Amino acid sequence: MFDNLSEKLGGILDRLTGRGSLSEADVDAAMREIRRALLEADVALEVVRSFTDKVREQAIGATVVKSVKPGQMVVKIVNDELIAMLGSDSQAIDLNAVPPVPIMMVGLQGSGKTTTTAKLARRMTQRDKRKVLMASLDVYRPAAMEQLAVLGRDLGIDTLPIVAGQKPPDIARRAMEAGKLGGYDVVLLDTAGRTTLDEEMMTEAAEIKAAASPHEVLLVADSLTGQDAVNLARAFDQRVGLTGIVLTRIDGDGRGGAALSMRAVTGKPIKLMGTGEKTDALEDFHPSRIAGRILGMGDIVSLVEKAASTLDAEKAAAVAEKMRKGKFDLADMREQLQQMSKMGGIGGLMGMMPGISKMKNQIAAAGIDDKILKRQVAIIDSMTREERKNPDILKASRKKRIAAGAGIKVEDVNKLLKMHRNMADMMKAVSRGKGGPMAGLAKA
Ligand code: GDP
Repeated sequence: MFDNLSEKLGGILDRLTGRGSLSEADVDAAMREIRRALLEADVALEVVRSFTDKVREQAIGATVVKSVKPGQMVVKIVNDELIAMLGSDSQAIDLNAVPPVPIMMVGLQGSGKTTTTAKLARRMTQRDKRKVLMASLDVYRPAAMEQLAVLGRDLGIDTLPIVAGQKPPDIARRAMEAGKLGGYDVVLLDTAGRTTLDEEMMTEAAEIKAAASPHEVLLVADSLTGQDAVNLARAFDQRVGLTGIVLTRIDGDGRGGAALSMRAVTGKPIKLMGTGEKTDALEDFHPSRIAGRILGMGDIVSLVEKAASTLDAEKAAAVAEKMRKGKFDLADMREQLQQMSKMGGIGGLMGMMPGISKMKNQIAAAGIDDKILKRQVAIIDSMTREERKNPDILKASRKKRIAAGAGIKVEDVNKLLKMHRNMADMMKAVSRGKGGPMAGLAKA
């Protein structure tokens, strides 16, 4: 899977990782190569452009982390951007609705629709312990209906009895009725495909959708068709509305163009992928795992992640040290608030400071959550450097300007300043071993 692409990207990145330093020109040269590799993999041009721009910008602006080579940093950046391009989180089929939950499968003929319907039914039955009914709505090819019935018999999964002469929307209604009467959890509707995208197919799909109100509308698309699959998804989404994509024949796809562009171009998640002809060859689409398979550089990625988290911890400790000495201005406070968000909220940093951890509950009770942390950062961002260094100069007119800049009230600026003072006092107290007057912070 994605072998060609993987080999090319691997080669480009390998050459970077060994080097002690990287110039802007080196990064640019690598980006040109990555761009070529992605275009050869049939990734959409707009997606390639945005990808290389983002990687370049981050690679050049990246903080150099101790114990990590610049090239390794680039691998991590490429990895993260690949994950983002693939859709970040894996998205499961949503069965959260009143049963029987209708799921509609659409796509071109030969894309693997019927096989995927059976695969999905098998997984829902065996893994998720759901009672599934499959129905073929392909009235144009009687063989298609028979194919689903055979698959159902093999798997021990019920299929809707075939009634000659019924129209697809009527079959959909009958399937839902049978689903209700039979106490099924899920009804899978396998619609008819055509060899090419045509208006008739779209109209019919829209009619079936209206008749069955499916909870999921899944486009089954052949990954080997690259950009055609992406264009198909866009057309189906505009005309019928999709909730997700299933990419089939990933097992034979050396390039990966459809998988890599699908999410970015259509905004729709790839929910599943077909990895073979057998009915158990269906997998969830996990962007991070796919990126890992494409790059094959998992070791470097985890090395950089570890180094970066160490850096965060060091930064947090440095701020904590300043706080302990009561010597921290609003810029420090901003850094600290951000670290707090990163380290799992206010509790994370407090946990590092002796004598403070017991106040965590009070802080939580005061409703100082991460949303408020973000707003505090926004207020500090609206200040000048001088104001951050020396909060005492903040009189009425400056406060008014800051409030306007951050889109909040002067009152909120006052609250922030009070919190800053309280924290400074508290830290001083803690450093003298007294425990902190945290009630002040809670009121801020
Ligand atoms: P439909 O016309 O869209 O219903 O397509 P079918 O389900 O009949 O599939 C067409 C062919 O593709 C069959 O030979 C399937 O075995 C094959 N197929 C479906 N999904 C996959 C897949 O993920 N990998 C591979 N290698 N073959 C698949």
